[in-house]
Amino acid sequence: MSRTFAIIKPDAVERKLTGKIISWMENAGLTVVAMKRLHLTKKQAEGFYAEHSARGFFGDLTSYMSSGPCVVAVLEGENAQPKWRDIMGATNPANAAPGTIRKELAVDLEKNSVHGSDSETSAAREIAYFFSELEVV
Ligand code: ADP
Ligand code: MG
Repeated sequence: MSRTFAIIKPDAVERKLTGKIISWMENAGLTVVAMKRLHLTKKQAEGFYAEHSARGFFGDLTSYMSSGPCVVAVLEGENAQPKWRDIMGATNPANAAPGTIRKELAVDLEKNSVHGSDSETSAAREIAYFFSELEVV
């Protein structure tokens, strides 16, 4: 059993796709072991995406991620980190495989509906950014 971190991004929350995306998680055998709805500040979004701070899209990305509520979650299961990335699909929905969340639901490259940690190390950092140990059950 391992854990990963997920975000249902503002474009998906606004379109009332939260429940549908939670079903996608659960149907894949992942367990939601923590979840909450948040409206990130610009600063919180910048801290979360610090690894991308030198990229040209950083300003737009952090404005979008702080533009409305999102839902953050910790998922647990066998190979949770790579499994959740597989279910999400490629970053650009145009390149995402059929049946993945991004292919079916995403708006565009930026508003791509979901986030998932890219490694076990990122997962640990990202979980700790949003949740205390007491909130993960
Ligand atoms: P992923 O979310 O698949 O791990 P990245 O970590 O590379 O992708 O990028 C983080 C987020 O930044 C993406 O999910 C997407 O919302 C946004 N993004 C990535 N690349 C671009 C780009 N070239 N233009 C605009 N937004 C981008
Ligand atoms: Mg990433």
